[in-house]
Amino acid sequence: MELNILALCYLLGSVSFIIGLKMLSNPASARKGNLVAATGMFIAIVGTIFLYQENGQKLHNYSWIFGGLLIGTIIGTVMAKKVQMTAMPEMVSLFNGMGGACAALISIIEFKHLIEVDPRVFAHLGYAFFSHLDQTKLLIILLGLIIGGVSFSGSMIAWGKLNGKIKDFSFKGQHIFNLLLLIANILLAAYIIIGRPEQSPFYFYIIIFLSLLYGVFFVLPIGGADMPVVISLLNSFTGVAAACGGFLYDNKVMLTGGILVGAAGTLLTILMCKAMNRSLKNVLIGSFGGTSAVGAGVAITGSYKEISLSDAAVIMGYANKVLIVPGYGLAVAQAQHVCHELEKTLESKGVEVKYAIHPVAGRMPGHMNVLLAEADVSYEKLLEMEVANEEFKTADVVLVLGANDVVNPAAKSDPASPIYGMPILEVEEAKHVIVNKRSMKPGYAGIENQLFFQPKTSMLFGDAKKALQDLLAEIRSI
Ligand code: NDP
Repeated sequence: MELNILALCYLLGSVSFIIGLKMLSNPASARKGNLVAATGMFIAIVGTIFLYQENGQKLHNYSWIFGGLLIGTIIGTVMAKKVQMTAMPEMVSLFNGMGGACAALISIIEFKHLIEVDPRVFAHLGYAFFSHLDQTKLLIILLGLIIGGVSFSGSMIAWGKLNGKIKDFSFKGQHIFNLLLLIANILLAAYIIIGRPEQSPFYFYIIIFLSLLYGVFFVLPIGGADMPVVISLLNSFTGVAAACGGFLYDNKVMLTGGILVGAAGTLLTILMCKAMNRSLKNVLIGSFGGTSAVGAGVAITGSYKEISLSDAAVIMGYANKVLIVPGYGLAVAQAQHVCHELEKTLESKGVEVKYAIHPVAGRMPGHMNVLLAEADVSYEKLLEMEVANEEFKTADVVLVLGANDVVNPAAKSDPASPIYGMPILEVEEAKHVIVNKRSMKPGYAGIENQLFFQPKTSMLFGDAKKALQDLLAEIRSI
């Protein structure tokens, strides 16, 4: 009977994950979706702790389990409360890495269990023959180990790169080196499964080392504007590694959760690849973008012009249609609320206002949607890139708020540019472009922006929050 209740808990957990994920695909239902999925996870965890049995025995090491849960809950709660919106991608990377590490640890423990149950134990090594062991299980253990290990070390490097502690690094022939690491891992795994069993524990540890190394060298060279693709790819790796754990424990809810994360991460990777105009093959071999990319492209000459607050207020206050392009700087300045105020004030003066959202604006997928949702901006006002690119043609003013790479025309016109080929928001199609940022410094990709030097562009320098507050006051006084 208890086992049936556990199966029911797992069923409820799995269904909640699916419903939660579906709700996450729409900004209006995303918060509730998160809660639904978290409730499902809670039911699955509580069910496992109190109802799971092995050989008629329930779990008994409760102090370890609850001790771990308590520590994790405290750390997670403090981090979630303290983290700045702009540091969310780093935190996502860190958590993702923890998921990969868990999956790799499961493989290490299950490998030990697997070889210990065999009666023919090698006295000097303490390990057993593999030939009669469950080879499928061994295959899953090794898959979980390799994918989890890569996901852990790769995510740690991504975390360091996103918070600026780790710089891009690459060397000549890195594609080949990465490929060799992967091949060596696959060969060693095959050797463990079918080859000389008595030496396998040693090779098992080599695989751990090579997987961690691959994760490091896979992410280290990725620079410029290409990190989003890698972050979502690592996310899908963690999902697949967790699914391996679910398979090992014959745990349906873990399997379902892992598959969902793996599939969602893969879909997001494909969407990100499209948004960045990168092929998945490039991502898998690693080493695109890179330090060499920074600062590349045709040098920009010419001058830019500044606009005063009062002029900006007049142009916007008397416009028919204003499109706002939010970028990373808006998140840094935490100017989303005042931006919403500006939108409402302009609308009260009869101006149509919408937001143009680039899929990789900010520092994480959906960053701008989350940011604007925080300020209660209506979802109907958010235009996706393709739709926005049509609307720019009929806009009187485009207000670029702390965005840079996602509006850089070099992506269309300069084959030497590291972002060449990336679809961008074509703001220069509008009548006037007002760009707010603090200086002429480049954005994430480290390259100059031709847009700032174009005749129809005017620069409104200053921190986004302060500039918007001042602009708001000017518009209200018109
Ligand atoms: P960018 O990083 O290209 O540019 C942001 C701009 O904001 C900077 O040029 C900066 O200029 C300005 N800025 C910073 N702080 C402020 C402030 N307080 N007030 C006003 N302006 C400010 O941002 P985009 O959103 O245009 O592009 C995102 C980039 O990040 C892309 O290259 C993308 O590939 C990459 N990326 C995206 C991820 C994702 O998943 N979305 C993940 C990782 C990377 P200044 O210093 O002069 O003020």
